[in-house]
Amino acid sequence: MRKKIIAGNWKMYKTASEAAELMDALKKDIGGVSAVDVVVCPPFVHLGSTVEACKATSIAVGAQNIYWEEFGAFTGEVCGAMLTSVGVKYVIIGHSERRQFFGETNETVNKRTKAALKHGLKPIVCVGENLAEREAGRTFDVIRDHVMGSLSGFTKEDMLKIVLAYEPVWAIGTGKTATSQQAQEVHKFIRDLLLKMFDRATAEAMRIQYGGSVKPENITELVAQPDIDGALVGGASLKADSFAAIVRNSMN
Ligand code: PEP
Repeated sequence: MRKKIIAGNWKMYKTASEAAELMDALKKDIGGVSAVDVVVCPPFVHLGSTVEACKATSIAVGAQNIYWEEFGAFTGEVCGAMLTSVGVKYVIIGHSERRQFFGETNETVNKRTKAALKHGLKPIVCVGENLAEREAGRTFDVIRDHVMGSLSGFTKEDMLKIVLAYEPVWAIGTGKTATSQQAQEVHKFIRDLLLKMFDRATAEAMRIQYGGSVKPENITELVAQPDIDGALVGGASLKADSFAAIVRNSMN
């Protein structure tokens, strides 16, 4: 039985006081939830304070990126040792906004994922097709390319520490959610692919989140699908009431 995981990606939102306010509200509402794993992923500058805010709660903190090198002259980058030193447990890797605006490729996603594992961080590796690719009937080709390219060279043991996030780019921040059937179809495709790449036990143990305009109103149906193990939430994670409702409704 895979434990569901709901992660909030705050992207480049929230000043320090806004982040503290959001965490205060989340702690009161869902700070004691243990039936699902709850993760919040603030911008780098709020990681330390958010970890502090999450003490004595069941909420874990994730970063939105990681650089693959150890310490060095890499201005603007943040490495694994820095993340773990402030208590970060997860890291989002290869989000479509990084692929689209910052030149992220399967190769760099692979390097970042290796670095995360080396430092004991749990990577949330994002894959997903854009609208043109879906309309051209290339969804499964793109997903195969993202999964195989991003996850090459890992052992079965590594894979069990990785969470995959299927995020159709056309559904991110657009209000257009994939139907639960569309999402399930791709999640099943990914699980079958993991079976071919590794084995049945690994494929069945790995958690695959859905991401793309997840809201309190659609999460229950999404997680009722056999291969959907939670959600990566953007916009709706920025308000305590909607994120808390998503967490609660994922347990129904
Ligand atoms: C995301 O950023 O990963 C995301 C899924 O965003 P949204 O929920 O706003 O579509």
